[in-house]
Amino acid sequence: ITPMDGVFHSQFEETVRPYIDLIDTLREIGVGEDISLPSIAVIGDQSSGKSSVLEALSGVALPRGSGIITRCPLQLKLRKIKNEVKWQAVLSYKDTSIKLEDPSQVEGCVSKAQNMLAGDGVGICDDLITLEIMSANVCDLTLIDLPGIARVPVQGQPEDIGDKIKNLIRRFIEKNETINLVVVPCNVDIATTEALKMAQEADPEGRRTLAILTKPDLIDKGTEKIILKIVRNQVIPLSKGYIVVKCRGQRQIEDGTSLEQAIQEEIGFFKNHEFFRCLLQEEKASVNCLATKLTQDLVDHIKKSLPLLADEINKQLRNSRAELNHYHKVSPPLETENLKEFFIGIMIKFNEKINRMASGAAGYRDNLFVQLNSEFKQWKEQLDCTKSSFHQVVQDVVDDYDLKYRGRELPGFSDYNVFEMVVQRLVIELKEPAIDRLRVIRGTFTPLTAFTSHCFHNLEQCISANKIEDIQLKQEEKVEQRIMEQFEMEKLLYTQDEIYFKTLNEIHSSGELASEDRYPGLESRNKYPEMLKAYYEIVVQRLADQVPMLIRYFMLKESAHLLCTEMLGLTDCANIAEVLREESDISRRRITTQARIERLTIAQKKLRNFI
Ligand code: GDP
Ligand code: MG
Repeated sequence: ITPMDGVFHSQFEETVRPYIDLIDTLREIGVGEDISLPSIAVIGDQSSGKSSVLEALSGVALPRGSGIITRCPLQLKLRKIKNEVKWQAVLSYKDTSIKLEDPSQVEGCVSKAQNMLAGDGVGICDDLITLEIMSANVCDLTLIDLPGIARVPVQGQPEDIGDKIKNLIRRFIEKNETINLVVVPCNVDIATTEALKMAQEADPEGRRTLAILTKPDLIDKGTEKIILKIVRNQVIPLSKGYIVVKCRGQRQIEDGTSLEQAIQEEIGFFKNHEFFRCLLQEEKASVNCLATKLTQDLVDHIKKSLPLLADEINKQLRNSRAELNHYHKVSPPLETENLKEFFIGIMIKFNEKINRMASGAAGYRDNLFVQLNSEFKQWKEQLDCTKSSFHQVVQDVVDDYDLKYRGRELPGFSDYNVFEMVVQRLVIELKEPAIDRLRVIRGTFTPLTAFTSHCFHNLEQCISANKIEDIQLKQEEKVEQRIMEQFEMEKLLYTQDEIYFKTLNEIHSSGELASEDRYPGLESRNKYPEMLKAYYEIVVQRLADQVPMLIRYFMLKESAHLLCTEMLGLTDCANIAEVLREESDISRRRITTQARIERLTIAQKKLRNFI
């Protein structure tokens, strides 16, 4: 087989060429990955002549035979190149890509690829095989050959092979960007062919569907008139209509009839046909006519698709830019010279963020105080609950004083030590609950984890988990230590609280203002419970404030500060790039997004000239 002229390309005129070129350029820059571009899919029942039609259009021999031959979707990308350049093709599937030097290699290589993807034998597969043919003798066009619809599974095929094939076909023909070429042989009951039914389902008004009737030479005698009616769109109307073509039959292939010769013979066939000769005039017969019509349809289709295409490109550009913007925020610049600045930027943001979290700025989303406040409230409630038992104990001590606690003093005098010890004992009882509260908070609340979850993944790894834990533990220990100290201090009963003195005044109501220096030395033990009650109020208030303040200061503010210092230490790192090494996933996505934006921008510009 020699490189053949596809008929298709000769049909181009100056008016249609630019549109085909436009889509070709878009496809070349890779926009096809982002957006479906206008293309032509060929569907039909098994052995209806799909591959033969494709061959005639493309001038390239494809695998053929009986039974299921096309087992994977085969994308035929025809690319016209300048005359001087030799025919060449690239066959690619999955990760494989094979260069072909001669058209005669195509058949064998496509078969091999299919065997690789769909297994030896009769299975089918969704993976696309792409055959890109570069030749001076083809047009720029992409056609997709799909597996034939099989009604009954043959030996070795799964029961649901028919459904599988149909699903695969549907995925292609449902796209609005695709022109569906439905291939139906003349020698079957056309109305009942599965291919035509599927095409009608996918495109009920037949706007994108063009039916091709093959094998007019094999027609049953007597059915010619019915075929004529069908071709004239009088039986199953399609807005794009029908075309009859005669391709190489098995005999012609065996005889070595070339594709070029076959096209000559086809014209002869129609010219001499008793019934079909009129179809040549009506432009409803021959591969040539099909090529012209297909070209025109494709161009019309492209013209119609352009506004949608432009919309889609704009939309994708917007999305991609937003995506890239996001990556810019979360991932370092690709250029090393900008890294340091970026790094410092992150540090500043990180500092701001955790300081805001730590200081509990109102309305801030990650306000850690919401969590803490309820703990602090519970602490206060717990303290309040101890008041009544304190009052009871103090009352009992006072009531029993003369019986149980009296020392060497004359009756009527009382020993301050006794009351001091009672208060000390009762206040110390609060120590355990205070430490417990700290433990509860520790268990449920880990500010450092909250802080670091807001920074870079790698940054987080840089400050090793141990460091973070170290800081956390150290801070908790400090709080615990301070709480202990607080209770040691509480043993030294002391207050200058106004409330206490006010209470004293009310109790004695002597008119004379009570103070440390001028307290009337009267023995008035019955007033002790009230006085101690007032003092306990002050202790409770002191602890209700002090414990939360210690937690806030050491576990939030100082932790945040230590963490920031730790982070800033990283700027000394010899290799900031290493610190900032993104997860490869993000950088990969970023690079693909960048590439997508570039090609979509070019596509957008190209499209502007057409709309
Ligand atoms: P596919 O399975 O739909 O791809 O069908 P093929 O293109 O492989 O064709 C099936 C058989 O029909 C092959 O042997 C072709 O040579 C034959 N064939 C295709 N078109 C015609 C035609 O117009 N006339 C005749 N006589 N045979 C044809
Ligand atoms: Mg085929």
